[in-house]
Amino acid sequence: MKKRLVVANWKMNFNIAQASVFMHRLEKLVAAKANTEVIICPSFIALQPLHKDINHKKFKLGAQNMHYADHGTFTGEVSGQMLNGLAEYVIVGHSERRYQFNEHDITIARKLAAAVRHGITPILCVGDKLGDRQEGMAKTAVNDQLTTDLGLLTAAEIGRIVIAYEPVWAISGGDGQGTNASPQDAELMIKLILESIAELYGKTVASKIKLLYGGSVNTHNSKSLLKIEDLDGFLVGGESLNYQHFAQVIKDTQEFLIGQPKNK
Ligand code: PEP
Repeated sequence: MKKRLVVANWKMNFNIAQASVFMHRLEKLVAAKANTEVIICPSFIALQPLHKDINHKKFKLGAQNMHYADHGTFTGEVSGQMLNGLAEYVIVGHSERRYQFNEHDITIARKLAAAVRHGITPILCVGDKLGDRQEGMAKTAVNDQLTTDLGLLTAAEIGRIVIAYEPVWAISGGDGQGTNASPQDAELMIKLILESIAELYGKTVASKIKLLYGGSVNTHNSKSLLKIEDLDGFLVGGESLNYQHFAQVIKDTQEFLIGQPKNK
């Protein structure tokens, strides 16, 4: 049975002290369950203190970004080599990186390859913009991202990564409009991602990959989104900044699984 994942993307929020207090509060509300992995992605500077501080039976750590080179003249950047040992996961290709920091698919492909090289599991974010959807181009946009982003990985490596479908128009704040995607919208695109992976790399690879949904996930919609076929969990932004709400999303995910084993 595949484990579900609930990933918190804190973005540029919480200093070290705030991150530590948050984690102590969250820990009290979350029970360790074998069916669900909870991954916290804080700012780079909070990774090391949290690594020392958190209960590793309940939580794993992820970075929000990384550079594709191991070291060099890249002012302000952090490499996979530096993250190794601190972060088990790294978010790559988030829409805020794509559209606010002009990250192109070829850069994302290099980052994925570097993460894998350093034993860090990438969480690749793909998603359509509102314009793509309005022009009937949502599937093409996501397909194009997948084709280039995965281009430097072997089929076996692709089977070990996580892909988050995050429609840009559903992400709260930033460029996103924060409109909820309906479970039907999300299910359609998740199916498409699986089909694309199966077409490009074979059905076995597609069956191993973990697929998340992200975009305004909250305590009100998590239960209905959990019913999406082939969904393996959530990438949560805004709602992960409230420890009580985030704990509830984790609990919903853990409980949803009971009696519903996924045999992928
Ligand atoms: C995100 O940015 O990855 C995200 C899912 O944000 P939010 O949940 O706030 O829409």
